Amino acid sequence: MRNPNDDSGKSFIVPQPVRSDGTGGPDFGPRDILRDIENPDMLVPPVTDAGLLPNLKMSFSDTHMQLNHGGWSREITVRELPVATTLAGVNMSLTPGGIRELHWHQQAEWAYMILGRARITSVDQNGRNFIADVGPGDLWYFPPGIPHSIQGLAEGCEFLLVFDDGSFSDLNTLSISDWLAHTPKEVLSANFGVPVNAFDAIPQEQLYIFQDGIPGSIESQEIQSPYGSVPQSFSHRLLAQPPMKTPGGSVRIVDSTNFPISKTVAAALVEIEPGAMRELHWHPNNDEWQYYLTGQGRMTVFAGNGAARTFDYRAGDVGYVPFAYGHYIQNTGTKTLWFLEIFKSDRFVDVSLNQWMALTPRDLVRDNLNVGPELLNALRKEKWPVVKYPGFSYYPK
Ligand code: MN
Ligand code: MN
Repeated sequence: MRNPNDDSGKSFIVPQPVRSDGTGGPDFGPRDILRDIENPDMLVPPVTDAGLLPNLKMSFSDTHMQLNHGGWSREITVRELPVATTLAGVNMSLTPGGIRELHWHQQAEWAYMILGRARITSVDQNGRNFIADVGPGDLWYFPPGIPHSIQGLAEGCEFLLVFDDGSFSDLNTLSISDWLAHTPKEVLSANFGVPVNAFDAIPQEQLYIFQDGIPGSIESQEIQSPYGSVPQSFSHRLLAQPPMKTPGGSVRIVDSTNFPISKTVAAALVEIEPGAMRELHWHPNNDEWQYYLTGQGRMTVFAGNGAARTFDYRAGDVGYVPFAYGHYIQNTGTKTLWFLEIFKSDRFVDVSLNQWMALTPRDLVRDNLNVGPELLNALRKEKWPVVKYPGFSYYPK
């Protein structure tokens, strides 16, 4: 059968909900074959999957696109992914010069620059200001209620915004244009000490995103505050951090210990080579919100009482793991998988199944699991977030 979205003329085998042992049966009725191909572990779940788990996957490709002159945005909130109550995500792009207007909100904003460059600005409650240019792999964090702006530089940009409230919508913020449009001009005149006609041309409603010219250098724009600049930087170079490397991949952890202003969001940038996996683990602090940056993978989440469910993810998808549920992520593709694990927390923490077993009395582990010295001798006291078994390769069903 030909893939209608692929003009290369290549054919593919239509997957069927049938296991190699014959359980299941073919589906000849109405179906979205392309989605079935993207979700092989939904169509034919691993035999170890069982029980009831909520949906733990949502793709930005299935969300509403907000198109403006100057850029676009789309979001995944509890409206799109009901289980995701702790964090909400926005995927946004700004054209060269495109501006996400001066605004603020009740939630903290954490961001990861995916590609291109942007200039971010902010002023805190003590009149201390902040301006920085951010590029690929850079983060920013604006505390709740602190006003800010984002503008695409010469190459434009695309980034991920994460807010510490799953019900937050970026289309529902407090904007400077909106406030002025809903304040009598006489009041604006009295507030700023200028004639009413100074406000003749202000926008009639919220701009959200608008097109402007490409800004000059930071030096040409910077305003000197008599109160100085913010004491803790609102931006952070995540890729400048030396990664923790293990056979099969790497991890960079960022939280309030190395990015002090980020008091409510912690994250890990994880790299998994083909055939490798993020080890079996869980997090003893909060739910995990994931964003897949490149490649493809699958995650199985274990919820206790025999319940486990597997989902397939690719670049642009969001995954979610409820608090303390066990999980692992395998790279199922031929390219390196990069993804972000994000938490509403001041710190990144995880418990490794392997390390737990290695540091528990040997007899206890042996008799609990009825395992022999081969496994017991292989247990690792050091934590390896990403692992690769030399002989292993992933074969799609
Ligand atoms: Mn914002
Ligand atoms: Mn995790």
